[in-house]
Amino acid sequence: MAYLGNPAYTMAVLEKHGFHFQKKYGQNFLIDKNILEKIVDAAEIGADDVVLEIGPGIGTMTQYLCERAREVIAVEIDDKLIPVLADTLSEYDNVTVIHEDILKVDIRALAEEKNGGRPIKVVANLPYYITTPIIMELFESRVPLDSVTVMVQKEVAERMKEGPGSKHYGALSLAVAYYAVAETVAEVPPACFVPRPKVSSMVIRLTCHREPPVAVADERFLFSVIRASFQQRRKTLVNGLNNAPWIPVDREEITRCVESLGYGPSVRGEKLTLEEFARLANLLWGKKKGMKGSHRA
Ligand code: SAM
Repeated sequence: MAYLGNPAYTMAVLEKHGFHFQKKYGQNFLIDKNILEKIVDAAEIGADDVVLEIGPGIGTMTQYLCERAREVIAVEIDDKLIPVLADTLSEYDNVTVIHEDILKVDIRALAEEKNGGRPIKVVANLPYYITTPIIMELFESRVPLDSVTVMVQKEVAERMKEGPGSKHYGALSLAVAYYAVAETVAEVPPACFVPRPKVSSMVIRLTCHREPPVAVADERFLFSVIRASFQQRRKTLVNGLNNAPWIPVDREEITRCVESLGYGPSVRGEKLTLEEFARLANLLWGKKKGMKGSHRA
């Protein structure tokens, strides 16, 4: 089987299997060999690595991963692609294709089974309609992760890398900062895919922290505070927190906690660094009464 990473081979495979793209699954297949190599190089896959690929499509990047990794697990939702993958990956005995929605897979259990709980690498050209839920699920479910190297919409990559004060800074930027260090690998124009997406894309590598950079009393409460702070972006931080039923702290106490960070009561959430959010969450954690509702906003 020839490498698929070029337009002619890709079209030949699609024709052979009578495959039709499904827009609802965010199917934009990579057809650029240079970009494929850049992604796999940036992920630094070695012969001892177990790699999870989310959405292998027709197996284009999977082939590259199989050449370098000890084992590849590829999770694909579209049943029409399962026979295609059986064909394009037939030469590799180090790949397992799982036909499932990635959001329904217990990735932590999978990592335990395939790599004895040691960190795995995630590599993917992600379906853009569920980029944020996939990234958050990987982080929040505490999958042992070495790195996550993914193609995402350019705008989402920018949100992941933003710092305080920018209009794109928000809950995703803070989650990424808490769990990883983000670096841009490449900007990818629509012409590198078939069919062409309407937006520009970016490959980003998230190298996961061994230990979080800040210490908090309760990790889930930190993210509840962050979510409350960005829920109504145009409101002050105090109002955002006060309006969130899952932050069971009086307005006066909230104001005092915010002021003890050195900010006035009209500051907005977008001004605070991760370290300041951690301090705020710890202060609020000490002031909270019985939870009014679930603290998982
Ligand atoms: N990796 C291939 C490539 O680069 O050419 C395909 C990437 S395409 C952007 C996204 C892939 O994710 C498609 O194959 C799509 O069917 C699959 N997909 C979409 N939603 C999914 C989900 N919830 N779980 C698993 N795979 C999904």
